[in-house]
Amino acid sequence: MIAPERVVELARKLEPDGVPAYVYDLTALDAHAAAIRAALPRGVQFYYAVKANPDTAVLRTLARHADGFEVSSGGELAHTAAAAPGRPLAFGGPGKTPAELAAALELAAAPGGGTTRFHVESPHELALLDQAARAAGRRVDVLLRVNLPGQDEQAALVMGGKPSPFGMDCELLRRCAGSLTPAVRLRGLHAHLASGVGADGLLAAAGRLVSFGRQWCAGHGVTEPEFNLGGGMAVDYTRPDGVFDWPGYGRGLAGLARPGETLRIEPGRAVTAYCGWYLTRVLDVKHSHGEAFAVVAGGTHHLRTPAAKGHDQPFAVVAVDDWAPPWPRPGVRDEAVTIAGQLCTPKDVLARRIRVGRLRAGDLVAFGLAGAYAWNISHHGFLMHPPPAFHYLP
Ligand SMILES: *Cc1c(COP(=O)(O)O)cnc(C)c1O
Repeated sequence: MIAPERVVELARKLEPDGVPAYVYDLTALDAHAAAIRAALPRGVQFYYAVKANPDTAVLRTLARHADGFEVSSGGELAHTAAAAPGRPLAFGGPGKTPAELAAALELAAAPGGGTTRFHVESPHELALLDQAARAAGRRVDVLLRVNLPGQDEQAALVMGGKPSPFGMDCELLRRCAGSLTPAVRLRGLHAHLASGVGADGLLAAAGRLVSFGRQWCAGHGVTEPEFNLGGGMAVDYTRPDGVFDWPGYGRGLAGLARPGETLRIEPGRAVTAYCGWYLTRVLDVKHSHGEAFAVVAGGTHHLRTPAAKGHDQPFAVVAVDDWAPPWPRPGVRDEAVTIAGQLCTPKDVLARRIRVGRLRAGDLVAFGLAGAYAWNISHHGFLMHPPPAFHYLP
């Protein structure tokens, strides 16, 4: 892939021990989020799923374009409320504790607190929320998370349509509907089905949710229902220049929307993946049983994405011509090379057998698509290497 000039420029300016480093291109993120917002119909609400990347500067940039944020823990809730105060929140995720529910209620009631939607995952969680709401003397707005049959099995990470810890099938929905109290206001349904789905697949899933949801909500007295269609918009790590078809998806949602209803989406990966770069330096190059390996500073304890998803992280080589040692510089030319990190495990591989024009010890490598599920999902403590630096453009 090709790294933008501004990222290359920054990489060249860093001191030798200035890598590994993450670079977040906030200008690019701002433009990308604006394009997503512009591609969606006006009435469709765009929340950002914080778990993809909770970096404060990233959240502040997104707050300019997103209608709200989806948080999935008490930690994300407090962090997001501090980073982007007063923005609407959706509180989702499995296994919410009474303390987390109480904290969310308190935040929603605080002066300047944004509106909050609670995504309920089970009848037990609904009972906990009801108890917390009554204790706080508040009413809460709830979407029930559904797990309907017949989902897209092509997706990278399927979370619904089969037995799953996420969401509820019809029997559990019925039980929730039967145990509503005045403290709980049922506003609609939520479904996050899978990760890594194209626009057509997501629109088909949205159609299924909305047609089920309209009938279900009408049958349970929910007027002006809200349908949260989840996230899961695909990022193609093999084609870093291609992006999800936001205009096509937006047109499809426009066809689905009806007056009096609210459609909401909560993408994560496809919002922030593109703005992040992981910069590092080649420490060594060698051959082993006929294959070339480059070992870079850092590794999957900083950028776990390729290990988590089993893919090759796309990268650009930034050639550095200085070479001080008096011995020959290790390197490869026109050859496939596997890029590994500094961890003592064969799983610490960032990209496998990728053909490069030239790669030498001392060259810089800029891994792209490192802005989502990257630093924040990595096992930072393993082997006690130092953490990366963080830089923000501009
Ligand atoms: C992870 C998650 C998202 C975001 O998914 P992406 O694949 O990053 O778009 C949205 N909603 C829920 C409930 C999630 O668990």
